Amino acid sequence: MASVIQTNEKQIVSYNPATGDEIGRVQQTSDNDVRAAVARSRDAFHMWKTTSFAQRRALVMKARVVILNELDEIAHLISAESGKPFGEAIAMEIAPVLDLMQHFAKKAERLLKPRRVNIGLYATMGRYSKIVYHPLGVVGIIPAWNYPFSIPLGETVMALMAGNSVVIKPSELTPVVGEKIGDIFEKAGAPANLVQVITGDGRTGAALVDAAPDKIMFTGSVATGKKIAAAASKNLTSVVLELGGKDPMIVFDDANLQLAASAAVWGAFCNSGQSCSSVERLYVQEGAAKQLTKLIVEKTRELKQGAGDAEDISIGAMSSERQLRMVEDHVEDFRRAGAKIEIGGKVLSTGLSRKPPEGGIQNLFYEPTVITGATNEMRAMREETFGPTLPIATFKTEDEAIRLANDSEFGLTASVWTRDYEKGRRVAEQIEAGSVCVNEVLYTHGIGQTPWGGFKNSGRGRTHGAEGLMELVQPQHIHINRFAILPDAWWLPYSPEAVKTFRGFATKFASGSLLRTATLMPQLFRRIRELLKK
Ligand code: NAD
Repeated sequence: MASVIQTNEKQIVSYNPATGDEIGRVQQTSDNDVRAAVARSRDAFHMWKTTSFAQRRALVMKARVVILNELDEIAHLISAESGKPFGEAIAMEIAPVLDLMQHFAKKAERLLKPRRVNIGLYATMGRYSKIVYHPLGVVGIIPAWNYPFSIPLGETVMALMAGNSVVIKPSELTPVVGEKIGDIFEKAGAPANLVQVITGDGRTGAALVDAAPDKIMFTGSVATGKKIAAAASKNLTSVVLELGGKDPMIVFDDANLQLAASAAVWGAFCNSGQSCSSVERLYVQEGAAKQLTKLIVEKTRELKQGAGDAEDISIGAMSSERQLRMVEDHVEDFRRAGAKIEIGGKVLSTGLSRKPPEGGIQNLFYEPTVITGATNEMRAMREETFGPTLPIATFKTEDEAIRLANDSEFGLTASVWTRDYEKGRRVAEQIEAGSVCVNEVLYTHGIGQTPWGGFKNSGRGRTHGAEGLMELVQPQHIHINRFAILPDAWWLPYSPEAVKTFRGFATKFASGSLLRTATLMPQLFRRIRELLKK
């Protein structure tokens, strides 16, 4: 089954989903070995946390050079193991993560610089506060298979720049790409055990959570996210959960329809629709529906489908049989519910020879599929498909579009298309999703400078951006009294004078007004004098 078969309990064989060729074999790491890896990681952390930002930057920049030197080889590996086109591996994985690497290598020091906090009227008492950021320790990274290089590598770089060590458990569908990340850091000269890769399936992931790292960065399904959150609670391990999506695209009739159609085709079909931020639902205003659908169908017809290593291929194989079955099920649901398949709607029938793994199906190519007449009542409009389908529904008014888009358990990304930027911004702010684009689609995970994460069941916490970096540190508040010659008025013992002062604190000092607080001074001096006499 799938693009991976477990040959025995100790080994995973990874196959190319387009051709059926074996990519490599990795071990199913045992629970004991996972625990040992986390223990080694903790030792590496104690050394790494003492390094300067310049040393961390040097490692990350060397890792970039390794990637640039092996760019085509890495892109072919990503394409071969996941099924995505070779060019897309460069455009959507390697280029964005190289940008993220240079950004955090250069900017982490400034983003994590100790900072003074405005403590209001407490400052008048000669005190000041600052925040310093400490690394957490061992960061466990458990990614999905759909962006097997950029997601775990980006999270690794951010964790390292913050002073943490890392243990990555790649998806069992893309373990060789996972191992490549370890190889890159080794070639870059990373200290021993700073970045470790432990291969295996969900059991290895569960063992990693159980081994109590200091943070879990998880990317995957809602169901697994819930299991991880429950397991992590045993050790109070904090988790960032990057989960599924059912992302809406809203097209108003004043939009540039040519551009919106091209964006919809890319947003729905790149990576065979296996992006958490794929366009999974398109809502078009009634007046533009016919024209937009025509353009989308025409543009879909032009797409060449095949094994991802050829440069003119736009749509590769799906990553696994399980995922293909899900797409078939959803397309069938649309059919049964009365929606119309405008193009696609089946497994590609011609020209592709795959040596299916034992018991597996002949081919994992699903045609890009455009569906009209979809409504939110259909099951396939509510569950994540994660495949090359683009269901189109219509709306009449702005309010209806917002209501339809928000009518989902998910809230990862969304896009709004209109020439009226004010309307675009207004609608964007009413959509319940972690990232909303106006006249753009899907790609903002590629902007490592901006926070990434979901509302509702699409996740908890953030990766990327300053907000994502903050997930990988613990802030420490340092509070200094530079006027440490008098006792504080609130210290023991209490007395009627004390209570009078506390009342003054509540009614004057706590107002935040310097003027009102000034009237408290005589009472404050009486209280301090009283304390000094004790
Ligand atoms: P999955 O939940 O099946 O697996 C994800 C990872 O979790 C794998 O490495 C797997 O081995 C591991 N795992 C499985 N069971 C585990 C357990 N009990 N404890 C610990 N680890 C365990 O998801 P998938 O099929 O690999 O990925 C597809 C999903 O990922 C989709 O829902 C997609 O939307 C989501 N995704 C989200 C984002 C995002 O940024 N929000 C990005 C990419 C993918």
